[in-house]
Amino acid sequence: NGAARFAAEQGLARVEDPEAWYTRAGQGEDNHPPSGLSHGTVGCCVLDSQGRLAAATSTAGVFGKMPGRVGDTPIPAAGTWADEHAAVSCTGQGEYFIRVAAAARTAFGVAAGQTLAEASQAVIDRIGALGGDGGLIALDREGNIAQPYNSQGMKRAWLATDGGVGVEVFGR
Ligand code: ASP
Repeated sequence: NGAARFAAEQGLARVEDPEAWYTRAGQGEDNHPPSGLSHGTVGCCVLDSQGRLAAATSTAGVFGKMPGRVGDTPIPAAGTWADEHAAVSCTGQGEYFIRVAAAARTAFGVAAGQTLAEASQAVIDRIGALGGDGGLIALDREGNIAQPYNSQGMKRAWLATDGGVGVEVFGR
């Protein structure tokens, strides 16, 4: 309701049939209903031409969540973080990412002298040791990329300044 009120105040056109914008789980060929606890998040990390790092994460949370649950995604330091050392976006069982402050811990590891690969793998190992699963994408100011995960798979892609493109779906 707050978003609708804000949109009206801004004079934006109203969406009369919100359902027309969604494909509900299980309705499309590639959109099967989840069998158990499942999650799906989109994250992005960027380094611009002036050396600035940024991260963003968007999620619907986890299937079967309690009403009102807040996961790691909107919590700075937990699911999303960017500072002058690294940009980090996480996906997985948010409760564990919150407990280890996963995104900020990765950047702090880089600040303390770890490579991005070491810092991000250490965070995923720590989450695994607690019994959690998921992954993260991370980028440092040198343009290094790290994308560790301990879940079954994590779809990821990157674009380099020379036009190089990479895409990986599974494969650890
Ligand atoms: N981390 C998200 C959450 O716990 C879920 C996800 O990454 O898919 O809400």
